[in-house]
Amino acid sequence: MKHNFGAGPCILPQDVFKDAAKAVIDFNGLSLLEVSHRSRDLIKVMEEAQSLVKKALNVPEGYSVLFLQGGASLGFTISALNMMRDSKSAGYINTGTWAKGAINEAKAVGIDVNVFANSEDTNFNYIPKDFVVPSDVDFIHYTSNNTIFGTQFQYVVNTDLPLICDMSSDIFSKKIDVSKFDIIYAGAQKNLGPAGATLFIVKEEVLGKSTSSFMPKYLNLKNHVDKDSMLNTPPVFSIYTSMLNLRNLIENGGVDAAAARNEAKASMLYNEVDSNPLFKSAVQGIDRSKMNATFLLTNDSLKDQFDAMWNDAGIIGLKGHRSVGGYRASMYNALSIESVKILTEVMNEFTRKNG
Ligand SMILES: *Cc1c(COP(=O)(O)O)cnc(C)c1O
Repeated sequence: MKHNFGAGPCILPQDVFKDAAKAVIDFNGLSLLEVSHRSRDLIKVMEEAQSLVKKALNVPEGYSVLFLQGGASLGFTISALNMMRDSKSAGYINTGTWAKGAINEAKAVGIDVNVFANSEDTNFNYIPKDFVVPSDVDFIHYTSNNTIFGTQFQYVVNTDLPLICDMSSDIFSKKIDVSKFDIIYAGAQKNLGPAGATLFIVKEEVLGKSTSSFMPKYLNLKNHVDKDSMLNTPPVFSIYTSMLNLRNLIENGGVDAAAARNEAKASMLYNEVDSNPLFKSAVQGIDRSKMNATFLLTNDSLKDQFDAMWNDAGIIGLKGHRSVGGYRASMYNALSIESVKILTEVMNEFTRKNG
């Protein structure tokens, strides 16, 4: 039995893996992978996946759901290009690697980026506070969960301007108020499905208004909305598996129930980190992510011992990102509380032996 704490691509429910595997062999007599995306069966899959996203997140009228390609990394470019208006400037919050990626891509398409809040001074171990959101820019962009350092916004950034959010690593982990956003995007492989699809939730009234002179057909969200997310061949396997995972999410109580489970997992782990003298949290207080918990050893010379112990327990993917060091426990929706319990037991046992 493996306990996959990997940051992404990540764990999905076993039943989802099984049903996806079945469809690769037999999807109404053919393999899912050889069916035309123009066939009725595949159009039904796309429609169900879109409607399950709407159901799970209570998406209001006037929003479209798209499954595109290029990952959240191309989402940086797509969101900026589509929201560019007359001022050709935008406000970005820099909370780490992915936020920085978004900033760089906005600059690359000619946007004058105002980084009005930044936690780079201490290697991104907190969510900036007391910032003033600019009002003279085309849009505001932030990253809801910093997958790498393990910080997370516990609220929606307040602005009257159009709001874009990269929710790659915490979408579907809790309730969100979609009406506050103009574009939400997320790579599928953190909480939704296999890599390949990028989810976009787009307010239709913002489409077709970009002032960018550079606008390749694929990057224009309006073209995708007009073609019901079938402008070109969509990433069929990723969408199908995402659909299965969304069915599973809804059968298990939807995002509210998932949020309660995620709260329980995160507090179990953070309680252990806080009470165990051989560990310390990399992030403090309210800014700590419920999806990606980062922690360090208080005595680095014990690293090999701890690593051997969690490896022996079947734990996978616990090594911290190289920019942070230490450990990162990613606790996406499909990770069970039993897996978190195993990890805390290993931490306990480690301290009993070495404390
Ligand atoms: C993983 C991640 C990305 C990059 O996603 P790709 O789909 O690999 O491009 C971007 N933003 C956040 C918050 C992420 O966690």
